Amino acid sequence: MKLVDTHCHLNFSDYDKDLPEVLTRAKTAGLVRIIVPGTDIKSSIKAVELAKKNKMIFAAVGVHPHEADDAGVLDVEKLRDIAVGSDKVIAIGEIGLDKYKNYSKIENQQKLFSECLRLARTLDLPVIIHNRRAGKEMLDILKKFKNTGIKGVFHCFSEDISFLNAILELGMYVSFAGNITFKNAFDSRKTAQAVPLEKLLLETDSPFITPEPYRGKRNEPAYVKNLLDVYAKMYKLSVEDVARVTTHNANKLFNLGIKEKGVIAYAIRDSLYLNITNRCTNRCGFCTRQYSNFVKGHKLSLGSEPLAGEIIQKLKKVSKYKEIVFCGFGEATLRLNTVIKIAAYVKRQGGKVRLTTNGQGNLIAGYSIAPKLKGIVDAVSVSLNEAEADMYSRLCCPSFGKKAYSAIMDFIKECVEQSIKVEVTCLDMIGGEAVSACRKMAKDLGAEFRMRHLDVVG
Ligand code: SF4
Repeated sequence: MKLVDTHCHLNFSDYDKDLPEVLTRAKTAGLVRIIVPGTDIKSSIKAVELAKKNKMIFAAVGVHPHEADDAGVLDVEKLRDIAVGSDKVIAIGEIGLDKYKNYSKIENQQKLFSECLRLARTLDLPVIIHNRRAGKEMLDILKKFKNTGIKGVFHCFSEDISFLNAILELGMYVSFAGNITFKNAFDSRKTAQAVPLEKLLLETDSPFITPEPYRGKRNEPAYVKNLLDVYAKMYKLSVEDVARVTTHNANKLFNLGIKEKGVIAYAIRDSLYLNITNRCTNRCGFCTRQYSNFVKGHKLSLGSEPLAGEIIQKLKKVSKYKEIVFCGFGEATLRLNTVIKIAAYVKRQGGKVRLTTNGQGNLIAGYSIAPKLKGIVDAVSVSLNEAEADMYSRLCCPSFGKKAYSAIMDFIKECVEQSIKVEVTCLDMIGGEAVSACRKMAKDLGAEFRMRHLDVVG
């Protein structure tokens, strides 16, 4: 498990005495990167020094809103000099607005924050934003920077869901600190639940806000692990899933150089998915491949197609999974022989097999493939997504043209005849009427029906 603490003040004097031990414990806990933000010029310089000495540490440089009364244009220039002087500076932060403590005048905070955003835009770096009770002023400033390429994270998020939606709209990421683990933090958990996992980062905000069960002690990056359980329950995923997705998110936002290899077999919750090809006979307008190489933090774009032997090597302890599912960045029946070999192997090992398909296997093979799947594939999920051939052609652009739709119907019927459990799936985005028509069609064909949300796997 690889973890990233995206906000940790190891540059504070709290760690002067035992930083090496803190870093050893972080490594043992699975931390691969720690982002240390500055809160003024001195702490920004110290963050960069720490980053130079430690491979896992990266620095952000910034001036905290508390310091705004004493800061000026010169400080922003110094931040720029520090940032361009080190390739381990990966963000501008911690910057923002704070009307809770009001240590500096709000006008000075607004000016400083705007200057820092301009710096981030110039250097094309993400920002790490502190915001306390300054939601309106914050949105007023951020809206002025809309469409300028500003990206970043709201760290230690403490606003409500309507503010959350506004910043998600601006493309921002969100992180919560250890308070998310506190027994009485119902509101924070309710807000966190509204954050799409693809927009969530992990942070400790060390040395502050120590999570349970260490609440009251000094916080440190190793404790980021204690947030995982809360999110796993919230998103109904495994701890490993949350770790992988949040690490991918941090890598994507901050460019942390974490190597992410294309995967053939990938686990989500209690199922194992097989990604055996990136080819497909459709070009669906909604296909994830058009805007990302990743699904739930797994890189699914492949350099080359794996051979059956390579796939089998990835299939250890098959029976511990609920299902082995052919479901990757392409249409598995384009490699029918491989599907048959692997499915037969899984059955011999006592596992269950599901084939997720666009249903065009008969057209691809040139014959009815259902009899070949009988006995080795327990279930098939066919993505239908439209209740009518013309609409399907428009949405999915099949290379087989209009004959694709009737071939899909035949495939469903033939699988049902072969006693293979069939589930027809539709994306909710196609609208209520089309969903109802697909549901009826599935029933008439003797198949089950499942409506799904785009990008929700497993
Ligand atoms: S059938 Fe699936 S893999 Fe193929 S283009 Fe459509 S969404 Fe993408």
